[in-house]
Amino acid sequence: MLSYLHAFHAGNFADVQKHGALALALSMMQAKKSGIACFDTHAGSAIYDLRSERARKTGEADEGVQKLWSARDGLGAEDWKPFLDVLEGFNAGTGKLSVYPGSPAWFQHFLRPSDALTVFELHPSESEQLSGWASEAPIRVLRQDGLAGLLKQLPPKQPRLLTLIDPSYEIKSDYADVAETLGKAWQKCRHGVYLVWYPILTSGLQAQLKEAVRRTDLRKVLCSEVHLRHPPERGMVGSGMLVVNPPWGFDSRLSAMMSDVAGPEVLNMTHDIGWLVPE
Ligand code: SAM
Repeated sequence: MLSYLHAFHAGNFADVQKHGALALALSMMQAKKSGIACFDTHAGSAIYDLRSERARKTGEADEGVQKLWSARDGLGAEDWKPFLDVLEGFNAGTGKLSVYPGSPAWFQHFLRPSDALTVFELHPSESEQLSGWASEAPIRVLRQDGLAGLLKQLPPKQPRLLTLIDPSYEIKSDYADVAETLGKAWQKCRHGVYLVWYPILTSGLQAQLKEAVRRTDLRKVLCSEVHLRHPPERGMVGSGMLVVNPPWGFDSRLSAMMSDVAGPEVLNMTHDIGWLVPE
């Protein structure tokens, strides 16, 4: 049974890293004209109200995107600009950050007529909200398992591919399943760009994902990890992203973005980036 609801966590430090990397990948890939098939395997409900009871209960956005929003005028990395423009757009005219876009809304913001977006979500109420949000947009919403669903759709019609894999990791086997799917997806579309998010936990379970990815035939896998400087005693103490086939220069640009927000006055964390699997 699925119990995870992203509304409790939307806009936290992990979303800043994940959506920052996604916005960067999209804008770098769109420097070329050819169409991109975009897939979001675990979409959530697309739009989050940071004033809602669920968001207020955890206050996670206060320690995440709200800190970045308050520091926005002092950010040096140019690549935060498209990210901040999206947030401005969702909160137009209010001067406050109350609406936070989930991954399908980030994809949708960047979508050009030559691109396509397919999103998967299994949770009944999340997928209902997602379908309502997407009803007027050229987005395919599928209430299917995102990992199996992705493999059925590959290779895509468009010349290029960008996939976000962002499970809730409610089931321990998710770590191994993600690595297996990544390996199979890469066999079907080797030039695709794949972004995988994972939590960094005190239990260390995320090591299973990284070890399993190393055992596949995948090459060119970048790994970006942030660690909170004041982590909780148990649970999530950081957040990681694997990026398969990142656009050229993506690593230094993501590094500049994360360094810009890592300081104690913003997100108070450390950032490491390097190749999990080199070329
Ligand atoms: N990607 C979203 C974002 O960045 O805004 C957040 C997604 S949340 C971390 C994970 C989502 O995956 C949850 O909404 C959950 O219901 C959904 N989910 C869990 N198992 C799934 C599966 N096998 N296939 C598709 N969606 C699934």
